[in-house]
Amino acid sequence: MIHSGLQLENNPDYDFAFEVVQRLQQAGYTAYWAGGCVRDFLLGKIPKDYDVATSALPDQVRELFGRKMTLAVGAAFGVVIVRSGRREIADVEVATFRTDLDYIDGRRPSQVVFSTPAEDAQRRDLTFNGLFYDPMADEIHDFVGGQADLENRIVRAIGTPADRFEEDKLRLLRTVRFAAHLDYEIAPETWDAICKNADKLKVVSAERIAQELRRMFVDRHRVQGLHLLKESGLLDATPFGAISGGIKEHRPEWQHALETARLLSSPGFPLVLAVIERALLYAPDESDELNRHRFAELGRELRLSNQEIDHASWLVLHHQRLSQPQVRPLSELKRLLVSPCAEDFLHWERAAAVASGSSLDDVEFLERFLENTPPEVLDPPPLLGGHDLIAAGIPAGPGMKLLLDQIRDAQLNLEITTREEGLELLGRLKPNV
Ligand code: ATP
Ligand code: MG
Repeated sequence: MIHSGLQLENNPDYDFAFEVVQRLQQAGYTAYWAGGCVRDFLLGKIPKDYDVATSALPDQVRELFGRKMTLAVGAAFGVVIVRSGRREIADVEVATFRTDLDYIDGRRPSQVVFSTPAEDAQRRDLTFNGLFYDPMADEIHDFVGGQADLENRIVRAIGTPADRFEEDKLRLLRTVRFAAHLDYEIAPETWDAICKNADKLKVVSAERIAQELRRMFVDRHRVQGLHLLKESGLLDATPFGAISGGIKEHRPEWQHALETARLLSSPGFPLVLAVIERALLYAPDESDELNRHRFAELGRELRLSNQEIDHASWLVLHHQRLSQPQVRPLSELKRLLVSPCAEDFLHWERAAAVASGSSLDDVEFLERFLENTPPEVLDPPPLLGGHDLIAAGIPAGPGMKLLLDQIRDAQLNLEITTREEGLELLGRLKPNV
């Protein structure tokens, strides 16, 4: 069994994917598990989804499982979804063995012809993604040398690499993602073809590029991924390259960013993004506003949410800005640490300090401060609001904001603690507005 040792009892996804193959075979068709799920089993991982490849034509699949239980999502390409009928059980994608023809727009075939398992394996991207497994007979069908490459920890394009990347440019990124994630070597011919064709990644939609980058950035082996992206020239073909005006060779910031990224433990995407933005896009001599503008442009290009864009920008613009926190006013510390990004901020400060071998005193002081300051002290309800100032005859506008800030600072600095003291301070500050 390719999955001996894995806990698969009471695994309904597995049972359902098994049943789909069983029913196809009992109806006289050839049917195997295919691609990613076979690879995952051989790597000792339980797949998150199953794909089935079969000799049955889409209509035959629909007939066998019933119209109601199937979705003809890509019937023209031979793909039918067989629904489990239960929300907690993953649907299975059943695809007729096929050969892809006439790639258009650098991503998709315009036409397919139904064919044999051996030919179907040839259309897949990497050798270890081109495996079939028959769960009934417990047999692997390997037409592309995928098992040997898995054993030798090699990522290799099926067929002639340059042609395969020419057909579908997304494979450039998938190859690098798998190499990094698995910590495998990329076969020399495959690597050469990636480097030669890196620039062609630009035809791939920003969403798909972003999806791949997102997965690479949060992966445990994100540094391998970033290194391969940069060395191959792929990073330059992403919006990072376009917006930074070309990624300069050997920027010392880049090396530092890699060291820092290596030290982050299970970071979210915006934090890793921020570390990369800082190295590639941040211009210390320009205003925060201009920098923020550039990060937003990148974020929009990568179709990130506004929240992710703002989160990353906040981090870049606050990184290493608060030196010697021990001598700073409480208000400054509190305003910083009350941010929803504070945890990521500290995570980054620590990693960056370790990466450059500098003292951890500052970050440890801030960590302790955050730990020891209860929320109601860190972010107490304001003593006065805009309506209080209006009642005191101060018109809404920048002047009012300035006053409110000053009163807030006094509160955070524990100089005033009651509304009365707030009003009294307002009375003293007012003549200066
Ligand atoms: P993961 O699900 O972890 O991203 P996967 O390899 O399972 O990895 P899927 O997108 O689920 O990726 O694709 C399933 C299978 O389809 C792959 O294993 C591969 O055989 C094939 N495949 C996917 N994308 C491509 C592609 N761009 N070119 C050729 N074959 C592909
Ligand atoms: Mg998959």
